[in-house]
Amino acid sequence: MKNSKLLKVLSVAGMGILSVGMLAGCGGGQSANQAVAGEEAVASETPAASETPATSEGIEATETPASDNVIVMGTNAEFEPFEYRENGMDIVGFDVEIAEKIAEHLGKELVIEDMAFDTLIMALNSDKIDFIAAGMTATDERRTQVDFSEAYFQSQQMIIVKADNTSISTADDLVGKNVGVQLGTTGDLFVSGTEGIASVAQFPTGTQAVMDLKNGKLDAVVIDAEPAKKMTEGQSDLKLLEAPFVEEEYAIAIKKGDEELLTAINETLEEIKANGTYDEIYAKYFGTAE
Ligand code: GLN
Repeated sequence: MKNSKLLKVLSVAGMGILSVGMLAGCGGGQSANQAVAGEEAVASETPAASETPATSEGIEATETPASDNVIVMGTNAEFEPFEYRENGMDIVGFDVEIAEKIAEHLGKELVIEDMAFDTLIMALNSDKIDFIAAGMTATDERRTQVDFSEAYFQSQQMIIVKADNTSISTADDLVGKNVGVQLGTTGDLFVSGTEGIASVAQFPTGTQAVMDLKNGKLDAVVIDAEPAKKMTEGQSDLKLLEAPFVEEEYAIAIKKGDEELLTAINETLEEIKANGTYDEIYAKYFGTAE
């Protein structure tokens, strides 16, 4: 019951809150800028290996003007199992494999550009990338800025706390607490829009939020369920609360009005769901077929 009250807060106040989140990302921008700087540093230290020709590292993609043979996916490769760097190198993950199918359908080569999550929509709308595949939730607010494909994944928000925490067991218990989120995400939207949270710390990546939780600077981190599972795997000092809240759907974002690409993406999704490829990819990253 209490949870449904919180759910209502999110859906009613969602649009306003996201704007605040975005202002924070663009205006004050300190943490967002740090995110970009940090990721660029990592990217230049770890050039993409040649064994995955379909995957290229962020900086190069920015410098390579999009050609007719190439389709550029924008993502934030800090979101395992959807997009992450395998051994700190190639960007791999569930979304990458879906994107590869889209590229295949179009007869183009996939190039991946890695950037801060809260800069993805801006990059799309300034033609730096062709589509966003980043575990991005299709929200009404985002629909005012981009078009979304059909949904390809059901998700939820979850809470991570220290293993010895006894004061937080549901989303309602976040009131009065210091909570970490990834800047500009739906977790950020939810926490920033929940009345009575003591402080909201917005990080460029969820991993950084979890670091501060481990260091005792935060009481909880709110993040999407699957990355939350990955982040707590084998971490005996952390626990993931079995209290998912806020249902969401991931979809691929494209520039508003890009009908041709939208159709191609939806056709690909339909095709891979019908021919078993989607289930294969799903089983690879989540263990069992959907
Ligand atoms: N699904 C969340 C959102 O869309 C988080 C995505 C992410 O961090 N990559 O905001």
